Amino acid sequence: MAESTENQFETGTVVYDPASDSVGEYQGKAGPYALLRPVGGGREWEARPQSLRPATPGERLSAGVRAANSRSFHGSQEPSAPGTDPGTRPGPAPVRDCAACDDLAALRDDARARHDGSAETDADVLLRRHQLRYHAPLLGLRDSALVPDASAGAEYETACTECPAGSGARRHPADVEAWRHGHTRETGHARYRRTVADYAVYESQVSVP
Ligand SMILES: [Zn+2]
Ligand SMILES: [Zn+2]
Repeated sequence: MAESTENQFETGTVVYDPASDSVGEYQGKAGPYALLRPVGGGREWEARPQSLRPATPGERLSAGVRAANSRSFHGSQEPSAPGTDPGTRPGPAPVRDCAACDDLAALRDDARARHDGSAETDADVLLRRHQLRYHAPLLGLRDSALVPDASAGAEYETACTECPAGSGARRHPADVEAWRHGHTRETGHARYRRTVADYAVYESQVSVP
């Protein structure tokens, strides 16, 4: 029983760390520690891997909502009024192969299955914010104030969590995948940390006729 396996979480899994009483996204191992990051981004912290457990849906949602609220653009809260306009918008679809999208979409589907309209709306808001932040160029999303910088494309990067190797910043996700396949084939390493960076420009809102 003491022999519980390490590396028990997929990168991006939202876990609960009792030492800090916080919920974070599992980023991989850093020496003897597990590296966690606040849901939605922020400063990473180290946790004892053996003490972690998967966060409950409730914990994940409240951590996500906190993250969303703390970074809401120019102070305006995204409307998350429970069940005001059910079914008027279909809700964002997860981006393929994005753990965070999958997680948030699963949260939404859970809420929908429970007929919890409030939790469903919250999950949709989180998914929308996450996609606006990480997939804007991919999905052609726009925010009224934060406009994707078309002159600087997104950068994709994957780093092995089992050795210092990394793909470096690439212009296309397929290049990162090719690197990852090659590295796994050469080394057997199977755990990676993936990041997508995109550039955006803040524009003051100008009314267009
Ligand atoms: Zn995503
Ligand atoms: Zn490696």
